[in-house]
Formats: sequence, C-alpha cells, structure tokens
Amino acid sequence: MAKKQIDTELVTAGRKKEWTHGIVNPPIYRASTCLFSSYSEMLERSKNPAAQKLFYGRKGTPTHWALADAITGLEHGEGTTLYPSGIAAVTGAILACVKSGDHILITDSAYQPTRGFADGFLKTMGVETSYYDPLVGADIKNLFKSNTTVVVTETPGSLTFEVQDLPAIIAAAKDIGAYVITDNTWATPLLLNPLDMGADISVHAVTKYIGGHSDIMMGSATANKRTFKKLQHTAFQLGQTVSPDDAALALRGLRTLGVRLKQHEESALKIAAWLADHAEIDQILHPAFENCPGHAIWARDFAGSCGLFSVTLKRGDYADTAVLVDDMELFKMGFSWGGYESLITPSDPRTCRTATQWTSSGPLLRLHIGLEDADDLITDLDTALKRYSAHLEG
Ligand SMILES: *Cc1c(COP(=O)(O)O)cnc(C)c1O
Repeated sequence: MAKKQIDTELVTAGRKKEWTHGIVNPPIYRASTCLFSSYSEMLERSKNPAAQKLFYGRKGTPTHWALADAITGLEHGEGTTLYPSGIAAVTGAILACVKSGDHILITDSAYQPTRGFADGFLKTMGVETSYYDPLVGADIKNLFKSNTTVVVTETPGSLTFEVQDLPAIIAAAKDIGAYVITDNTWATPLLLNPLDMGADISVHAVTKYIGGHSDIMMGSATANKRTFKKLQHTAFQLGQTVSPDDAALALRGLRTLGVRLKQHEESALKIAAWLADHAEIDQILHPAFENCPGHAIWARDFAGSCGLFSVTLKRGDYADTAVLVDDMELFKMGFSWGGYESLITPSDPRTCRTATQWTSSGPLLRLHIGLEDADDLITDLDTALKRYSAHLEG
C-alpha cells in the first residue's frame, strides 16, 4: 500500500495482529518470566534476545513492541528503545555513542538535566563536553577536536527556542564521522524527522506530547541502521525497561497526538499573537514568530509548531513575576509540559548557559498552551498581566 498520511499512520502504527490478537489495542502483558515451550526454544531465543519474541520481561513484551514499532515508523528509523524517563533516553543515547577519552558537543540551549549529566557523570568517566551556540550552523566544524565523537542537538531549545540548522550541523558531523543525537521532544515525530536529515538518534520525552496527559514518565530513542544495535545493546546492559501499563498509556496518547497537536498549535499561535501586542511583553520566543532566532530555519525544516513557547517581559525582575504567576486561574505552575493543561513558569536562562550570553534584561516566562479554550486563557493572562503592571507601578 502507498505511504499513508501521518494521521492515518498514528491510528495504524504498531497494531500487528500477532500482538493485538484481533482486538483494537495490544493487551497489557505484565511479565517477568516468560515460559519456553522446550529446551530447544529456550536455546533458540537465547541466541537473539533482541528479537521481538518473548524472552524475559525486561527485554519487552508485545505491549512494548507495539509502542516502539509505532514510534520507529513515525520517526523513519531502524528501531526504538524505551526508557523510564525522557532524560534516561537522552543519557542512554549518549552512552551508546561515547567512550572514555572522547570529546562531545552539546547545544548551549540544551535541557538542563542533559547538561547535568555531561558535567557530572560523563566528566567522571573521562568524557569532555563543550557547549556550542545553538545558532552556530556549519561553523560547528571549528569546535571539533580530533576526539570529537558526538554532537547533541535540541531544536528548538525548550526554554529559549533557538532553532538550529540541523542539516548543516549533521553535514559537518558526518565529515568527521561523529554521531548526531537530537532531542526532538518539542517537534514530536510529527513536525520534524531528524533521521531523514541524517541524524543518528532522535530522542523523545514521551512524558510530554506523546503521553499527552501528564500521567506517565517515559522516554524513547529511535536510531538509524548505523546506530540501532549499539543503542539497544547499551539499553540492555543498563537494564532499561518500562512498565507495560505505561507503554499502553503512551500508545493510547500517541493515537490522538495529531488532533491534540493541531489544537495546541492553533491556540498557542493565537495567544502568542495576543501577547506580542501587549505593552508588558518584550519578545515572543516562538519559532513561528519572525524575531525568534532561527525562525527562517524553522520555516524551512518544520511542519508546524506546538503549544510550548516563551516570552520575555520588558520590565521587572524574577521576584516580581510572583505577582503575575501566583493566583492565575487556568495557567498553573509546574515542570514538564505536553499535557492537556496550560502551564506557566518563570525560568532564568542565565542559570544554564556557558557558551552564549543571555541578554534579555526582563524575566522570561515559559508557557505551555493546553487544550482549554484559547479566549479563556487570554482572559487569564490579561488579568495576570494587569496585576503585574499595577504591582510595578504601585
Ligand atoms: C522534559 C524533557 C526531557 C526529559 O523528560 P523526562 O521524562 O522529564 O525525564 C528531555 N528533553 C526535553 C526537551 C524535555 O522537555
């Protein structure tokens, strides 16, 4: 059959008959021990525990394979490994590609715990990390050392939203044979497919939009042919596994990702446009907006945007933002994003940058636009910003 449109693929992905047994969803297989029907079958399966055949609970069951296969299909990869959190997927992907003595490059706009892993664990095991300007593009080649083996990108950055020139970075990395790992959480598998551009591993915090309901922690890493065996082998050695119940929830979330994402996108664009005209707002850090660094690259490479963006305020400081964010009716404060609910968090990028300077003088607020009515959300923001203005003038 011809290649299907993405919304069709979201419905059909991973639904192999041998896993679903004729019902719509794969059953939740809770398993530690899997029973072999004979000694010869036990020997046979032991030869290739990575095959999608029951072997031992930790190596997966049809519930896991259905989810992993669905993500592999959407990301156009060779295979996918699942992890108990998004950060476990990031660290699992990096560990698959480095050894002691290597040098790696990570974007300065990376998710903070990714930096924490590099500056802590990786440093201890003798891997050196340099951070690069997310807008570096092809000039990343000037940062390569003789022992550079991995480039870790995240585009756009999930706090400051610089969009990276992934094709240029990948081309430079290929020249020296380095692996490119990209944290694709913001884009989901629907808005960007980094493996098609030549990246080696595409990572998702499944916790965010794929799960979509703020009730699971999970990560995935999808690799190309060159990298998948290494990735899976490393995950097996580290004993990474997820519960079948969570895999079923992630698969349930995945089915509606297309319609949810369209609504997140539409509402976020409407609210960002409203904020852009507000007297207290300085900059809109949303890739679809022209003054967002890397906007032209976003327009070239991405199929759309999601509900996560930031704004900077013209005046006040972080202490003042309490007046704005406390007591909002619909926007709540909390980490993570990608669920059905709206969130707002003041976040200071100066605390997690080393290669570039964060120059905005006013505080930054990160917003996740949920599935509430966009006009109700605007009313909530309007009230909060009025409170903020009154506080600064009072
Ligand atoms: C949340 C997030 C992660 C980590 O996911 P967890 O499931 O919270 O560990 C990684 N990368 C990005 C871009 C994220 O937003």
